[in-house]
Amino acid sequence: MAETSALCEEEEVKPQVKWNGRYKCPWTTWEYPNGLSFVLNNILPNERWADVSEIPSSTDLDITLPVCTPDIEQLKNPPSSGVQATWIGHATVLVQLDGINVLTDPVFSDSTGPVLFGYKRFRMPACTIEQLPSIDAVVISHNHFDHLDANSVGKLNERFGEKIVWYVPKGIGKWMKDTGCRNIVELTWWEQHGHHADLQEEIQFVLTPAQHWSGRAIIDTNESLWGSWVIKGPRHSFFFAGDTGYCDIFKQIGKKYGPFDLSAIPIGAYYPRHFMEPQHINPKEAVDIHLDVKSKNSVGIHWGTFKLTKEYYLEPRDQLKIEAKKAQLLENAFITVNHGITRTFGGI
Ligand code: ZN
Ligand code: ZN
Repeated sequence: MAETSALCEEEEVKPQVKWNGRYKCPWTTWEYPNGLSFVLNNILPNERWADVSEIPSSTDLDITLPVCTPDIEQLKNPPSSGVQATWIGHATVLVQLDGINVLTDPVFSDSTGPVLFGYKRFRMPACTIEQLPSIDAVVISHNHFDHLDANSVGKLNERFGEKIVWYVPKGIGKWMKDTGCRNIVELTWWEQHGHHADLQEEIQFVLTPAQHWSGRAIIDTNESLWGSWVIKGPRHSFFFAGDTGYCDIFKQIGKKYGPFDLSAIPIGAYYPRHFMEPQHINPKEAVDIHLDVKSKNSVGIHWGTFKLTKEYYLEPRDQLKIEAKKAQLLENAFITVNHGITRTFGGI
C-alpha cells in the first residue's frame, strides 16, 4: 500500500502555471515552439524547409488512401462487448464502449485554422454529423484548430443539444459555452468525472497530461490547458493521446490506468524534427507510448487528412509498420485503418 501511495504522489505531476496565468509543460523534454521557426517552416521554400509532401490528385488518393463510408447500421448497433472504433479522419474517432458513444476532437469541416494559415482537408470526413449515431460525450484534447472546430461543435449541438457532455481541459469551458454547449465538464490533469450512461453504470473520464500547448491566436497561447483522456468503463477502457510530444508521463499513465483495450495515438505531423519534436511524436515514439500506457491495441490517428507538416503523406502509415515490427509488437497490435473503417477491440 505504501508503495502505491508513493507512486500516486509521483504520478500527479501538475501543469506549471506561469506568473501571467498561462500553462506550461513541466518536463525538460518540452521546448516552446519558436515563432520564427514557425514562420520559416510555413513560408520560406528553401532547401532546408522544402515541402516533400506532394499530395496527389483525389483520383490517386482514392487508391492510396480511400475514404470508406462506414456501415451506419453497425454504428447504431455496436457489439455489447469490446471497444468499437471508427476513424472519421485526423484526430476524430467515434468510440463505442460499455453502452456509450464518444467522439474525440470532432472536426468535420473542409478546412481548419486561422484565415491566413489555415489547412485544407485533402481527405473528407468518412461520414457527416447527420449520419452519426446518438453521441453521449465528446472529449477535447486542446484548443488548436485541427482539434477544436467551431463549425463542428455548433452542428453537434444543433443535432444533439443537451444530450452531449463535453469533456474539456481547464480553460476551454468559456469558449465551449460561447459556442452553445451546455453540459461542460472542465478538468485539470488527473481530475476525473463519473459519466452516467443510460445503463446506470458509471464510466470515468480522466484528463491526463500530454506534452503540448494551446492557442487559437498569439494572444491566447497557453491560457487553456491541453491533455490526453482516459475513459474507463466497468468492462472496457480507452486512451486518447490527443496531440503530444514524447515524455515520461505516459509510463505513469500506464501504471495508474493501464492496460487499455484500445488507444488512439497520433502518428503524423512530426517533420522537421528540430521544430516538431517537443510537440508531436513520430511513429517510433507512438509505439513507445503504446507500450508505456500498456495498450493492448492501438490505432494511429492525426495523419492522412490535413497536411500540417513536411513529411510525405503516407510516411506515418509506412513508418508505423516498421517501428511496430522493430519493437516486436504482436501483429496488428498497433494498426492504421483507412478513413471510415470500423473495428472492434477487446471483445469476447
Ligand atoms: Zn495541437
Ligand atoms: Zn494536431
